[in-house]
Amino acid sequence: MNTQQLTELTWPDVAQAVAAGVTTVILPLGATEQHGPHLPLGTDTCRAAALAGRLAERLPALVAPVIPIGCSSEHRGFAGLLSLEAETLAAVIVDCAQHMAGWGVQRLIVLTAHGGNGQALALAEARLHQVLPALAVWIPSPMAICGEAVLTIAAEAGLPFNTMGLHAGEWETSELLSLHPEQVRMEQAAPGHTGDMDAALATLIAKGTRALTAAGVIGDPCAADARRGERYLAAQAACYEAAWRQWLTQSSRT
Ligand SMILES: [Zn+2]
Repeated sequence: MNTQQLTELTWPDVAQAVAAGVTTVILPLGATEQHGPHLPLGTDTCRAAALAGRLAERLPALVAPVIPIGCSSEHRGFAGLLSLEAETLAAVIVDCAQHMAGWGVQRLIVLTAHGGNGQALALAEARLHQVLPALAVWIPSPMAICGEAVLTIAAEAGLPFNTMGLHAGEWETSELLSLHPEQVRMEQAAPGHTGDMDAALATLIAKGTRALTAAGVIGDPCAADARRGERYLAAQAACYEAAWRQWLTQSSRT
């Protein structure tokens, strides 16, 4: 078996993997929301799947199909948006986890590539503790775990945070150029909101993306580069692996 993707495995493959001790599943969470005029709506879904695949190779773990719709109401007012209430997404996560526990999963990693899913993740975590106390659940915070490594890679290339960006900037555009270059419209790429990123995040949460930018870009995608995109992805997978191993040790769940 050289794939870890549930959707590509048969049930005997999965039963065999679980019997052999692969009892960790990664559930990736994406989004379907605007990413400026140059990136597809499925950008976060694509990034979530890529990060989950890279992390799974390092653990090992099985990878559930990415949930392609998240909580993205901060992008209301842009065409193409699909979004769930936090309660709905939390319920989907809990429902999936119930079935995983039924076929022997002992540890669940919920890996989000979209920051807006935070409230749903908190709800899901609390509920899973109640209904599946035997399932060890790890829900890492992307910025807390990977932020510094990603900022360092950008800084090495002379790119400040407000270029790398919070949304559809150099960071995400580089990753998409690495993963799906045919989906990136670089001729449409242009700087969006490039003010202070901490202030931008506060406005994004309080008032939505439209309060900052009509094009939907927070950052500057023009300097994006596919090779740096791959470095970002690899660095995040390494950060998640290190944090996972630390979490396992701390929670004595080895
Ligand atoms: Zn995104």
